[in-house]
Amino acid sequence: MPARKRLFMGLFMLFTFILIISLALLAFFLVRPEAPLFHYALLFFLILVGGTALVSLFALGLITISLLRGASPPWLSSAVKKVMVFLFPIIVQLGRLLGITQDQVQASFIGINNKLVEVENLEVTPQRLLVLLPHCLQNEDCPYKITLDPHNCQRCGKCPIDSLLSLAEKWQVNVQVVTGGTLARRAVKMLRPQCVLAVACERDLSSGIVDSAPLPVWGILNERPMGPCRNTLVSLGAVEEKLEEILGSRA
Ligand code: SF4
Repeated sequence: MPARKRLFMGLFMLFTFILIISLALLAFFLVRPEAPLFHYALLFFLILVGGTALVSLFALGLITISLLRGASPPWLSSAVKKVMVFLFPIIVQLGRLLGITQDQVQASFIGINNKLVEVENLEVTPQRLLVLLPHCLQNEDCPYKITLDPHNCQRCGKCPIDSLLSLAEKWQVNVQVVTGGTLARRAVKMLRPQCVLAVACERDLSSGIVDSAPLPVWGILNERPMGPCRNTLVSLGAVEEKLEEILGSRA
């Protein structure tokens, strides 16, 4: 079996083993509640749940204070983001249990993330800002390979890439078109930006924010009039507004 599959199977076995042991212990404690081991197990459980609750409370408090003050030192935002990233999958699952769609929870997460980046009041120069665009913005019939180099676009105006490149030129920022997380990570590694402005759907944006933490990522959701991943659109006004907000007079 290949190593990658062995790892997954190994973790799966460990998870099943932990479940069986937990069930066995639970059954034992139900039969013998006076056993001293029961108290240790209860203590361990309380420390685990209590620790997670404390971390959540701490993060919630910091997010609220940062948002109310409208300012937050980068180290604090970075710590809050780390906790948010840790709790994010749990919150998504909790939302699912309550009948809230994954898209709704992810969009809300992106909104909070944007606010946290905003209150950092970063001083970003155009050269250190990377604009990441999803490949699905490109017209599906366009033959030009813009993921290698966005400037391969012939600027025919049939899709938003033309206007987005004009915006990037106007604000003198780096721009890359990516097909997914791997290319996005490569672009970040290559250009080492101080901050990223990313356009994507809820799923890609939230996973990009989580993957890149603590790198500040501003997210703008795309529009999908033809369904997901096909001839998508983005509000140029929203992109320009965000560029202005990030760069201000530094452009
Ligand atoms: S604007 Fe550029 S990317 Fe879009 S269809 Fe025209 S050539 Fe292709």
